[in-house]
Amino acid sequence: MIVDLRSDTVTKPTPGMLEAMWSAKVGDDVFGEDETVNLLEDKAARMFGMEAGIFCPSGTMTNQIAIKCFTQPLDELIADQTSHVYRYEGGGIAFNSAVSTRLLNGDRGRITAEMIAPEINAENIHYPHTSLVVLENTVNKGGGSCYTLEGIKPIAALCRDKKLKLHLDGARIFNALANTGDKAVDYGKCFDGISVCLSKGLGAPVGSVLLADKDTIKYARRIRKVFGGGMRQAGFLAAAGIYALDHHVERLKVDHAHARLLADELTKCSWVTNVLPADTNIVLFDTVDPADDVLKKLLDQGIKANSTDTHRIRFVTHLDVHPDQVEWVIKVLSGL
Ligand SMILES: *Cc1c(COP(=O)(O)O)cnc(C)c1O
Repeated sequence: MIVDLRSDTVTKPTPGMLEAMWSAKVGDDVFGEDETVNLLEDKAARMFGMEAGIFCPSGTMTNQIAIKCFTQPLDELIADQTSHVYRYEGGGIAFNSAVSTRLLNGDRGRITAEMIAPEINAENIHYPHTSLVVLENTVNKGGGSCYTLEGIKPIAALCRDKKLKLHLDGARIFNALANTGDKAVDYGKCFDGISVCLSKGLGAPVGSVLLADKDTIKYARRIRKVFGGGMRQAGFLAAAGIYALDHHVERLKVDHAHARLLADELTKCSWVTNVLPADTNIVLFDTVDPADDVLKKLLDQGIKANSTDTHRIRFVTHLDVHPDQVEWVIKVLSGL
């Protein structure tokens, strides 16, 4: 048995999803003529209480387009030091937008209005102009830690007061919603931009949607073209996204229950020194032996995972991790 816990991006389309893709009505989306893409963009926007959406090939692209839309060259954005936009997008903030980044030390990646306020630069020619705050929910590097909407509201209020834009990297926003019970539609009131990944826990093969107001999305279409992300008959991919939104949101709580089972077992293992709270579908834990040695032993038993540090391993549960596989992993962990 092979169990792939490396990432929630490894899922394959289900038969139902492939059927939806196969039968999608498509057109040239660069001409705005792909009705399935248009449907997905409208659907996602409505779900989050936003005016409009744009379908893109990746979450990196939706984040980078948002940063481009919400800043001018020489501006600065504020984000947590673990944030995906800073760490895992290849330096794109500087390259694409000529913007600098002010990093904060949040609680497992979660920052607060109190932490942000003193980092907003005063108007002074020495300082870059602070124009954007980026939050991530759930926080990948925080082990799937969540913001609640109550925690976000003071940040949104601060941004409004200081005339900063607020963007959400919601690669795993539906995991956060499943955990907190907050409503997607209320997110639109807090954020100027929201990225939603369809290819993580939702199980679509490709794609993310950027949501914002109509004017921002109009400009985002220009930026997407410049970034090389204008796709033609993308409706085949958008159909997978629509299917995922209709069928794979409710089931995320199964992934979360699986993650908790794995975390509970890990706390009993003598070769594990620390297990971070498994709030959603990610389990981070620290090992006595080097992570690479442990990963090798796991791989010998058919379990694939990745390290995130010399002594830290990450498990991610997803659509293609089934209950019998979780049972098997637990058995292996207890015998290691
Ligand atoms: C995966 C991920 C993204 C987007 O990644 P792509 O591979 O470009 O789709 C963005 N933010 C976070 C937090 C992620 O985990």
